[in-house]
Amino acid sequence: MSASFDRLKAEILNCHRCTLSKTRNHVIFGEGNPNAEIFIIGEGPGKVEDLKGRPFVGPSGQLLDKILAACGFSREKHVFISNIVKCRPPNNRIPAIEETQACLPWLYEQLEMVDPKIIVLLGATALKNMAGNHHRITREHGQWLTVRNRLAMPVYHPSALLRDPRLKRPTWEDYKNIVRKYRQMVDRDHFSSFIRE
Ligand code: SF4
Repeated sequence: MSASFDRLKAEILNCHRCTLSKTRNHVIFGEGNPNAEIFIIGEGPGKVEDLKGRPFVGPSGQLLDKILAACGFSREKHVFISNIVKCRPPNNRIPAIEETQACLPWLYEQLEMVDPKIIVLLGATALKNMAGNHHRITREHGQWLTVRNRLAMPVYHPSALLRDPRLKRPTWEDYKNIVRKYRQMVDRDHFSSFIRE
């Protein structure tokens, strides 16, 4: 990890910009390859993440890891994962506007440093905060958008797939598109045993 990324991490781990700092156990900076070409953005840490200090390690994270593995992606090599807010909102409520406004500058700095070619927006909160409040995940999942001058794909949050398994099929089609784009933009030989073409 570069010195500037280390400095940013140290600053974020000490952040008290919003009241979520009062109830958190851990600040979840994010994890993955700091030079990844795919940057995945979720909503915020859940209970397990807040206790363990890592992003996406609860049931939703396990499902996300399975989807990434089917795409031929790993956290270590291909992606960096972070959230709209880096501290857990109590009872997993949607983050309040003053919390997202306080926290988003951290995410913007992370994006500039990682400098990915592709952003994946997990669920409505990530979509609305990064692309605008008028966007709808039900309508726009699977469509390429431009977010902060980068290509971005909204997909359903893995927690939505756990609540409603009918969303798994359209979500898989969306991830196939992400793999195809990755082959076009990053690595034409990228291997996925499930997505050949
Ligand atoms: S949620 Fe973000 S802005 Fe609020 S205290 Fe945590 S790191 Fe700071």
